[in-house]
Amino acid sequence: MIRHSVNLHRGCFGGCAFCTISAHQGKFIASRSKESILREARQVSRMPDFKGYISDLGGPSANMYAMGGRDKEVCRRCLRPSCLHPKPCPNLNTDHRPLLDIYRAVDALPGIKKSFIGSGVRYDLSMHHTGREDVDRANRRYNEELIREHVSGRLKVAPEHTSDNVLSLMRKPSFALFHEFKRLFDETNKRAGMRQQLIPYFISSHPGCHASDMAELAAETKALNFHLEQVQDFTPTPMTLATEIYYTGYHPYTGEQVFTATSQEQKLEQRKFFFWYDAAYRADIIRTLRRIGRPDLISRLFGDRPPHAAGRRN
Ligand code: SF4
Repeated sequence: MIRHSVNLHRGCFGGCAFCTISAHQGKFIASRSKESILREARQVSRMPDFKGYISDLGGPSANMYAMGGRDKEVCRRCLRPSCLHPKPCPNLNTDHRPLLDIYRAVDALPGIKKSFIGSGVRYDLSMHHTGREDVDRANRRYNEELIREHVSGRLKVAPEHTSDNVLSLMRKPSFALFHEFKRLFDETNKRAGMRQQLIPYFISSHPGCHASDMAELAAETKALNFHLEQVQDFTPTPMTLATEIYYTGYHPYTGEQVFTATSQEQKLEQRKFFFWYDAAYRADIIRTLRRIGRPDLISRLFGDRPPHAAGRRN
């Protein structure tokens, strides 16, 4: 995978609470020149095992290439940890045209049949309405070309949760935006006669996430016909906001107390909701739903089928 991929930039201005990329690589994007990218793409195309497909034209986030604040002086004084949360900064240039130009130039090289985007796409960036007609038109074009030309069957995106409370703590956009992107993805596929899959990533036990949030996540993703695969349980990572909350129990920006599932039992209880469709977890999930006062979700998850306790696993 990595062997036939090309990294376009470093850094990330998303500032997600659980992610340490901006601490490692910086919040300001360092983008490679077009010449440098094309030089590497040509080298990849000459590799003896290369079959014509670039596996990723990406970076820490797929679509931050050549982006940043329009007024650098404002950025220099800025204390915001994220340029995207709670709302994209009005000073942020979200024009996807330089990135589209790279995709098209790479695909035009001899020996390259197609380039895929394997890195996670920030749809909050490509769906953001700036009010500038030329930028908004270009970004719509980006979404369209991304979905039609650069998905190797499955497009990875990271809504990370469905609960807006948890998402706000994560510094991620509302789940409503994921619904919007999924609609666009499905419509574009339909128009193109394609049956590609959208693969959403989710995290359990993030600070602020209760078992009831995971129960809602299970019901919401079931309603969207997802059988989740790309999931992870929160792991504290040095230099992140989420880790500070995890260890102290307080949000350092507001001083508010924040619940975090820290025991093995609490974490496992949350994680099981990802796999509501696995009969081995059904009895435990039903017990949890009754305990947390959400028996209404039992029929949303399991219909009227009786609980199945066999084959329980941890
Ligand atoms: S001013 Fe805006 S674009 Fe610049 S660093 Fe701050 S949030 Fe990001």
